[in-house]
Amino acid sequence: MHTAEIVIIGGGIVGSSIAYHLTTSGCKNVVVIERESAQGKGSTGKSMGGVRAQFATPVNIQMSLYSIPFYDSFEERLGHPSGYRPQGYMFVATRQAHLDYLQANFERQKALGLKSAQIIAAEEIIRTLPQLRSDDILGGSFCSTDGFVDPYSAMTGLMTRAIEQGAALWKNCEVTGILRDGHGISGVETSKGQVATRTIVNAAGAWAAQIAKFAGIDLPVEPLRRMLVPSEPFSEFPHSSPMVIDMSTGFHFRPESRGFLLAWNDPEETPGFKTHFENSFIEKILTHAANRVPAFENLPVNPKKAWAGLYEMTPDHHAVLGPVESLPGFFLANGFSGHGVMHAPATGKIVSDLILQGKTDVVDDVSVLGYDRFAKGALLHETAVL
Ligand SMILES: Cc1cc2nc3c(=O)[nH]c(=O)nc-3n(C[C@H](O)[C@H](O)[C@H](O)COP(=O)(O)OP(=O)(O)OC[C@H]3O[C@@H](n4cnc5c(N)ncnc54)[C@H](O)[C@@H]3O)c2cc1C
Repeated sequence: MHTAEIVIIGGGIVGSSIAYHLTTSGCKNVVVIERESAQGKGSTGKSMGGVRAQFATPVNIQMSLYSIPFYDSFEERLGHPSGYRPQGYMFVATRQAHLDYLQANFERQKALGLKSAQIIAAEEIIRTLPQLRSDDILGGSFCSTDGFVDPYSAMTGLMTRAIEQGAALWKNCEVTGILRDGHGISGVETSKGQVATRTIVNAAGAWAAQIAKFAGIDLPVEPLRRMLVPSEPFSEFPHSSPMVIDMSTGFHFRPESRGFLLAWNDPEETPGFKTHFENSFIEKILTHAANRVPAFENLPVNPKKAWAGLYEMTPDHHAVLGPVESLPGFFLANGFSGHGVMHAPATGKIVSDLILQGKTDVVDDVSVLGYDRFAKGALLHETAVL
């Protein structure tokens, strides 16, 4: 039987980052198990690639304060591009309640050391992006170090370096069970046989609850479909634009290639493993798009190029990170609720620290993300969910 010090289930960006951070800290016998023939077929390859520190809760802000500089220095560290483009995120407020919310978030972000965020006046938004319909804009916030990465490239860079540092990636291998004994975790069952290990990390994205169930753990992580619509080449809006978030509807977009990538979270979407793109979504999103950017009335879109993927949602829209006290050796890195790419670097470091040292200094209090918060009813509230 094969033996591994640590088994990571799932070879998306989160599993890759954990493997990278573990091997960087000197732990060599790490096996990443991925059921697909290639990496990136889960949510990572479907992501919009947005990265931001403009969050509401201290733990999410601190995870971004580790992750964004990591993406900025990625190529120096790993010799591989992350595709980080610091074009910013601009939140556009149309109600006083939005402004109050952005102001409160800004104070929290500043107190935690974020220097590149600012509150901006309506005039500044209109001056920067005169293409926006502005009659209802009251102001907003902007952070110049927010931006975009290439999730596939970042994932590949992390895994390539992890392998160079001693990790193994088993593709075409499905985890089908988790073995336990009187001490806790004792191994995994896979389509290629058993692996003996005392430490497992669940990094199975939208499928995390199924993996947890193998271990007898009830994990509240649900798949929720998200659809993205890329446009054809379009030059009537600047390609230097930040990610723009219209807070009146939640519609947001960013430049992509020679066109734009449009996103909107349909409130009518229901949980489930749905990954087909619904053509009726195009009309809905283009209505929101043209409502904020009149020039998008003429935005050319090919429905065949649009796609859908899965967010992995928790009840409080925060990740679940760290050990499960009732099952020694079982660690969770799940439930990113739409932020798994931007928080993958911090997650890798935190999970690696918790496994190897039992503590981390990436965030002030990692226990707020613990699995036991669901049983205790100690949920967090992050309202800046996109
Ligand atoms: C449309 C869309 C837009 C998004 N936009 C953003 C964004 O702008 N910014 C951001 O930060 N995040 C965004 N996200 C979220 C982000 O993509 C995810 O949070 C992130 O990719 C999660 O990474 P992961 O490695 O945990 O999961 P995944 O990439 O899904 O990887 C999990 C892996 O586990 C494997 N697996 C599952 N079960 C088993 C098993 N039994 N045995 C072996 N392997 C198994 C799967 O095959 C998969 O490869 C977006 C997501 C979607 C769908």
